[in-house]
Amino acid sequence: MKFYSTNNTSSRVSFKDAVFNSMPQDKGLYMPVTIPRLDDKFINNLDSYTLPEIAFHVAQNLLGDDIPADDLKAIINDAINFYAPIVKLEKEVYVLELFHGPSLAFKDFGARFMSRVMSYFLEKGEKQLDVLVATSGDTGGAVALGFLGVPNTRVTILYPKGKVSDIQELQLTTNGQNIRALEIDGTFDDCQALVKQAFTDDELNEKYRLTSANSINIARLIPQTFYYFNAYAQLLKLGINKVVFSVPSGNFGNIGAGLLAWKMGLPVEQFIAATNVNDTVPQFLKSGVYQPKPSVATLSNAMDVGNPSNWVRIADLFKEDMDQLKKLITGYSFDDEETVKAINKVYKDYNYVVCPHTAIAWKALKTYQQDNKAADTAGIFLSTAHPCKFPDVFSKEIADHIEVPAQVKELQAKAKQSVALGKDFEGFKDYLLSNN
Ligand SMILES: *Cc1c(COP(=O)(O)O)cnc(C)c1O
Repeated sequence: MKFYSTNNTSSRVSFKDAVFNSMPQDKGLYMPVTIPRLDDKFINNLDSYTLPEIAFHVAQNLLGDDIPADDLKAIINDAINFYAPIVKLEKEVYVLELFHGPSLAFKDFGARFMSRVMSYFLEKGEKQLDVLVATSGDTGGAVALGFLGVPNTRVTILYPKGKVSDIQELQLTTNGQNIRALEIDGTFDDCQALVKQAFTDDELNEKYRLTSANSINIARLIPQTFYYFNAYAQLLKLGINKVVFSVPSGNFGNIGAGLLAWKMGLPVEQFIAATNVNDTVPQFLKSGVYQPKPSVATLSNAMDVGNPSNWVRIADLFKEDMDQLKKLITGYSFDDEETVKAINKVYKDYNYVVCPHTAIAWKALKTYQQDNKAADTAGIFLSTAHPCKFPDVFSKEIADHIEVPAQVKELQAKAKQSVALGKDFEGFKDYLLSNN
């Protein structure tokens, strides 16, 4: 499969180049030249395959012969070695639990697949790969754990000071080895801007082989399609074949992957873009005007994005038919007060604890279902992180109900190692140039 830049649809690069470049020089994003439609037989029989089998079939159709079948299978079996179950909470309401990977967030799907693809393509004797990653909380942990100890790679994580939870900060700053963490005095958008600017800086590109691990990397988008197919497979086992997905959204990589799955033939009735008050996309779906704005800090910090980077991909998927996009996606946004109410209501109604991001997706799904009665259609809201990553947002009663996984308990014994920097590009560049 070849890839083009959304800013130049006649450009062509290989999968390897798209993965290592991360972002084209023209600042578009890479997209596959053709989006293969999976055959109906596969879609209708999804329930007879396991998650790794589905993942392999989807990836192979997308990538063609970029990675030989046996190697691709090995990458997938190693990367996607945890479950993504749907759990029924009430009639027509299911939660898709995407937090069973090592960093306890759905970003493990993208980060683990991408790190293994990069290390597969990295040939002996090649220049060390420098992975730059801006994180609003969860990406950094997933990427750090994905690359930890991978030879000939180094990861530099930029995170906004005081805007990630304690557990997230520990996941970012306690790895050592080939992982280093920079605590930036700014917002996630500032971190992201620094990374983007580094990629266009000649001096840095001369000295280092830079790549990005943010969701702009096409190798993160592809594995996120897997769990949409797999969720549908689980519904088929229950005799249900109509689905609505509610996706808690920040940079819009997750829902972008869902839309890619839809383009590949997954029969989804509706996507719900659920955001916090950083509502650039829900506003666009209402007004038709796409107006990025500075991000605002909220309880669902991984979604504090004012200018979602993956939006250009979604626009590209629907370039011929913006009306179809507006029909297929419904947007809802909720503030912190509504988020806390939703957490409490989910706990009360189902004795189930959701993280603040997940709570917004649940609330959006329930609101959508009230407005759109559709019998026999399952609503699935995506649970993007384990609630233990956000202990401060819960009441004591709910916090006590959360089962803290073993890997979190181990983290708490480790010491934080990070370098504090301002949000100016010169300071960041100096740090990179003077720390080899
Ligand atoms: C990253 C993240 C999101 C947002 O996902 P996008 O792909 O950026 O839209 C939502 N919830 C959690 C917990 C996250 O870590």
